Amino acid sequence: MIPSPSGERRSVSPVRNGTASAVDRPRIEAAVREILFAVGEDPDREGLQETPARVARMYAELFSGLHAEPRQYLKKTFAQKYDEMVLVRDIEFASTCEHHLLPFLGKAHIAYLPAGEIVGLSKLPRVVEALAHRPQVQERMTEELADLLMDELKPRGVAVILEATHTCMTIRGVRKPGGVCTTSAMRGIFRDNQATRTELMALIYGPR
Ligand code: ZN
Repeated sequence: MIPSPSGERRSVSPVRNGTASAVDRPRIEAAVREILFAVGEDPDREGLQETPARVARMYAELFSGLHAEPRQYLKKTFAQKYDEMVLVRDIEFASTCEHHLLPFLGKAHIAYLPAGEIVGLSKLPRVVEALAHRPQVQERMTEELADLLMDELKPRGVAVILEATHTCMTIRGVRKPGGVCTTSAMRGIFRDNQATRTELMALIYGPR
């Protein structure tokens, strides 16, 4: 067991300030040292001496989204008479699979049909990043993105498509390199209207 001055289970602070400072790095360092012992390594040999601290800094970054509130990026919207589809394609992301703590990497495509309010386009990648930087499951991340956009922008519909490669499938276990997992979440008109969905797919993947 890893000793911790703050008790065995550290609760996540309700004050989410968007920094990695809320991550307990000394505790990660102690844990990584334990893992190195457990696999039969010597954490004190030269090449490994700095590793626990390095891994702690890395996790602080990879999981900084736990202390960020993605909703904040969607608070500032603009009234705009534009009722056609807005699509941001190929938003690259790197997340961490919560089952293996291994990365999964891919692209997000996000579309919405405004109902009078639009959001700055640069905000969507920020929302993706805040959700990606926490222990994740691709299916849940897809739905969380769609629901956040529906909640905050109150559009006529939202579509989120994520395509990712999971290293937990390519470097271990079934070892199926190149497999891409696609997930989608459709809300509002994207769920109800086939023509809107077809238009979206043509915009992302080209006409079929
Ligand atoms: Zn996994």
